[in-house]
Amino acid sequence: MPRPKPSTPPLGKCIGGYSIGCRTDEHPYGKLMNIYCMVCKARMGCSICVQPAAELACKQCHQWATAVALRQHGPMVEADKVLDRVREIVSGAALLEDVPF
Ligand SMILES: [Zn+2]
Ligand SMILES: [Zn+2]
Repeated sequence: MPRPKPSTPPLGKCIGGYSIGCRTDEHPYGKLMNIYCMVCKARMGCSICVQPAAELACKQCHQWATAVALRQHGPMVEADKVLDRVREIVSGAALLEDVPF
């Protein structure tokens, strides 16, 4: 399991957030400094380090973090199975068209 990160990183640099596939190296903030999970409000990261909105999933509540991802993939029912699938998608192992839900 990844180590939990502070939800408010030091000013001026971003070290990623609670989204799956988020960058964890230090980088300058993107245009949007803080992107939050729509379910649990955890910080997903900035616009540089998070996955595209349609593939943005939350590591904290194990739900899709955006409305567009929820629409595209449907609700997370079996969290573990879906998270494996998300990791595949995020790692580029699967195309979005292959997603069965
Ligand atoms: Zn969440
Ligand atoms: Zn970032």
